[in-house]
Amino acid sequence: MIGVLAIQGAVEEHLEALKRAGYEGKRIKRVEDLKDVEALIIPGGESTTIGKLMKKYNFLDVLKKGTVPILGTCAGMVLLSKGTGINQILLELMDITVKRNAYGRQRESFEKEIEVKGLGKINGVFIRAPIVDKILSDDVEVIAKNDDKIVGVKQDKFMALSFHPELSEDGYKIYDYFLKECVYK
Ligand code: GLN
Repeated sequence: MIGVLAIQGAVEEHLEALKRAGYEGKRIKRVEDLKDVEALIIPGGESTTIGKLMKKYNFLDVLKKGTVPILGTCAGMVLLSKGTGINQILLELMDITVKRNAYGRQRESFEKEIEVKGLGKINGVFIRAPIVDKILSDDVEVIAKNDDKIVGVKQDKFMALSFHPELSEDGYKIYDYFLKECVYK
């Protein structure tokens, strides 16, 4: 079973897309809910808010252990990172720093076909999207770029995407890919 962290953000959208991919998603509202999930999705939303709520509901210590595989999309990418340039609560599970809202005002939101390494092309929706700013170790693999910007990375059990795959028609393909690359590798 795949869990979707359900404290803030695009939770329902992931649950819908999981269904399209043939999976039953589970809303994760408290730490105990993690018991029977094989992986967790941290959805898009507002990373500072999700971080604070993760601390409040005791997710922080449990997830920081690094035992639960995580797919982070958009704000989820921010939360997996080690730094954003501002003081905010992060899981610090991936050796990356990110730049939040990297596409500025003019292109705050757009949809684009992105080539994902080993998966092929999927459409991604970028909404006030972050990008990977710095890669801090050789353990991080770049899996997607938008022009010269890094918009997808993986490291061990963790995968982070700048965009929302759950909001495009074909983005649900990402779940099988994540399970193959990060969970049952
Ligand atoms: N810019 C937001 C953040 O840093 C992320 C936006 C999103 O998830 N759509 O939290």
